[in-house]
Amino acid sequence: MPASTWGGPESNADEIYPVDLLTYLLKEMMLQFDAQGACIALHDERIGQMRIQAHIRFKNALAHSPQPSQSSGPLPKLSSNARRPTAKLESDEQELLQMSPTLHIPVVNSLRSRPPDESSADEVEDVDPQQNELFAVGSAYPIDQDLIGYTWHKNEPYAMRHEDYLAIFRTNYNYLQPIKADMLPSSYLVVPVRESHLMEEIRSGRRRSTVLGVILLYRVAPDAPGFQKERAEALNYVERIALYLQNEKQRYIRRRTNEYLRLLQSISTAFPSSVQLSELVERIYQFVVRIVDVSSLLLTLYDRDLDRLYDVLAIHSGQRVEGLAEQPTVRLKSERPVWNRITHAGRQALLFSPAQDHEKRLEYQELLTGVWGNQQDTESFLMLPMKMFNRVIGSLSLTSMRPNAFQPEEIQVLETMIQIVTVSIENANLYERDRSILNEARQREAQLAAINSALQSVSSVLNVTALLNNLVESVASVLKVELCAFFEPSPTNAMLFAHALYAPSSVQMVDDGSGLPVVTPQNKDERDEIIGLIQLPFQGTFLEQKVDEGFFYLDVEQLKELALHSNEEGAIFLRETGIEQMLMIPMSYQTQFMGFLAVPMPKGNRIFRPKDIGTLLAICAQAAGAIRNAQLFEQREAAYAELERMSKLKDEFLVTASHELRTPLTAIRGYSSQLQRQGSRATPQQIMKFATKIAVATQQLTNLVGSMTEAAQIGPGDQKIDLQIEPVQVYAATEIAVGMLTLNTERTVTLDIPATMWINGDAPKIRQVLTNLLENAIKYSYPETPIWVSASSLHLSEVEPLLTPDQVNPDSMLSQGDIPVVLVRVRDQSEGISPEDQQKIFEKFVRATRSLTTPIRGTGLGLYICRRYVEAMGGKLWLEKSAANEGSIFSFYLPQVTPPVDVAE
Ligand code: ADP
Repeated sequence: MPASTWGGPESNADEIYPVDLLTYLLKEMMLQFDAQGACIALHDERIGQMRIQAHIRFKNALAHSPQPSQSSGPLPKLSSNARRPTAKLESDEQELLQMSPTLHIPVVNSLRSRPPDESSADEVEDVDPQQNELFAVGSAYPIDQDLIGYTWHKNEPYAMRHEDYLAIFRTNYNYLQPIKADMLPSSYLVVPVRESHLMEEIRSGRRRSTVLGVILLYRVAPDAPGFQKERAEALNYVERIALYLQNEKQRYIRRRTNEYLRLLQSISTAFPSSVQLSELVERIYQFVVRIVDVSSLLLTLYDRDLDRLYDVLAIHSGQRVEGLAEQPTVRLKSERPVWNRITHAGRQALLFSPAQDHEKRLEYQELLTGVWGNQQDTESFLMLPMKMFNRVIGSLSLTSMRPNAFQPEEIQVLETMIQIVTVSIENANLYERDRSILNEARQREAQLAAINSALQSVSSVLNVTALLNNLVESVASVLKVELCAFFEPSPTNAMLFAHALYAPSSVQMVDDGSGLPVVTPQNKDERDEIIGLIQLPFQGTFLEQKVDEGFFYLDVEQLKELALHSNEEGAIFLRETGIEQMLMIPMSYQTQFMGFLAVPMPKGNRIFRPKDIGTLLAICAQAAGAIRNAQLFEQREAAYAELERMSKLKDEFLVTASHELRTPLTAIRGYSSQLQRQGSRATPQQIMKFATKIAVATQQLTNLVGSMTEAAQIGPGDQKIDLQIEPVQVYAATEIAVGMLTLNTERTVTLDIPATMWINGDAPKIRQVLTNLLENAIKYSYPETPIWVSASSLHLSEVEPLLTPDQVNPDSMLSQGDIPVVLVRVRDQSEGISPEDQQKIFEKFVRATRSLTTPIRGTGLGLYICRRYVEAMGGKLWLEKSAANEGSIFSFYLPQVTPPVDVAE
């Protein structure tokens, strides 16, 4: 039944009883009782009234009706005619008596198989309501109304003359407007069609009315006798008709049941597979409207977990309340106490008529209102609880404007449907629950896997930077964020600098002056370099006070505040990446603070769930240990490398020292043994010569030991050296240095030093540096080549580019400002120093590899000592240039000072 016909006044009696059958039964009865016309009214459950289903009369009866005086003529004939088919009816009666109520007897066929021209007097015609309005087909009678309603009510047969009928039932009969009828009956016989007793017993009172219908026979001849005597016989006769009708009804019910079963089968296969609520609701809707007459409908589901009631489908007076399946109206269970009571009480359907039963209407008022509108005036109300074992799943409520709209068979079918739906909803729920449990488990698994791999990646790496990179990347992937950084305190704790940054969206921390972050693909080294430049203030800020907290959030104001005191790159990081809130997790190992893991909150309303924070803290705790390990490992590696280097130095020292010691010692031993051997034979000249040789060798030894002591004294880098800082004239110092040269080689030393250049320093140390550089130049250059010493006045910023980074760290060079300096260069012409040696020669006891195989003396201490002295005086010393066969330039600078007034004068 399509939805559009809902609530339409339609009868279903003709679906149950074929008109042919009714016509046949009426005709047989007319013949039996000498009636010329007959009609049958059957109870229409949908409207609760008796409705006339068929009205027939003999054709020849109509021919005689205008002249009642003549009507007596055909009557006996009719009567005699009537006897003939009676024999047939008798045989039918036999069949009727034999048949069980459930057996189908093809009476209709037997009617049709009868030759139509057997007798023209037998021919019947349908009484057209247009010709005759009396008991017209389709007329319906409520109980007690008119002759039919009266007979129904009294459940007794009546015989009556037409005048009496008019007097009793047509009290407001208007003689001026006579009944529109081409033929008026003279007398009536009205018989109730009672439900068979047997059937009644079977049904045991489940049906309100035991009167299936009413049959009315009439005679038309005015002088025809009334039916008084035939009443009892008619009642008996009709009992057989009742059997026919009941049989038909059974067939109809069976047919419908079969249909329902087919429908049920289709939904039982359809429902469980449809786990989508909206689909399920749609099917329920389609199904219900095919089965019963419904004007309004309400499907309510109950969620046990949330203790909520959801109205997911509502039809209000044939109109569907849209969008409920997607957005149901939600009520707390406590808001619907009656609903609760009914659904929990049992599996029984609740059925009553709100319009008729005022008591129940009051009692169940709650069920009759709500999203499906006011149902308090409907004729039929049915509520089917949906239950699975004892669990309430929901309910389906229906109303109809028709009385008794919901019949037991239909309720049964609906109950079956509800059971199937309940199971499928429960399945869907279970499925949903399973799926969400599965999902959650999967998520948890994935998260665990992520944590695991995060932990693994942070634990398996012993390089701190790689480890921190893994950490920020893992955290970003676990939290599904775009940005994550690790900030580490600087050695002095003044600042926090980014040690690792995860920013896959390629927002690079580059400032091109436009104030916007520049999106540029960069190589890893560049990126790492830039990351290192991001610095945030630490000492004295609120961050410092929070290192002992578990975790905390920085809000916009705090981020602004930090950006204010950050360096440029730090400010860009905080400002340009549009961070509104940043989660900070301080990481410590035991009591040692290691840094902050900073996770900017993603934009939008997303927040980190406690679960996420928990995960994060676990990762951080693990990472802290791993970082500590990596740091220790790196420190140990560095210490190990230093040890290695020291051990190598020691070896080199032993080689150098033993060589350097052996040479003068050999000389001393040689000359002294010669002196011994020659004894008194030695001439004073010879003695003098040997003594001088011994003295020189001794001096060499003394020098060596002196250098060694000096080198040991000045110690490594940060040890303080006693200095007497004063203005020193570069030219004078160089001249003295040249004069101090102990090497007696004839070499030209060209000085290009303006006399006005003064430097700040310790004069003896400056001279020592110059002597050393000059001696080296002489020692290691080609013989007879000149040596140049030049001095120029420069600013520090001009010197900076001359420094080779692998030699001297230019860092903090300009920390005291771009001061004027004097740059002194010592240049020679030699084989040059191989690139591998260029850095090493400034180390203690290290000599260029080539020098170790030459007879040229050296300890490898000179350059080391010189560099230490120059640096102690605020300058730098380095190998500015050295090329094969061209020679080297050793340079140093010291702060320039204006010449002292007295000297200048
Ligand atoms: P020493 O000269 O006593 O060996 P230094 O520390 O002064 O020690 O020099 C270290 C090494 O540097 C020298 O042994 C030599 O191999 C190399 N060296 C120093 N100056 C020069 C130079 N002007 N030309 C070539 N090699 C040099």
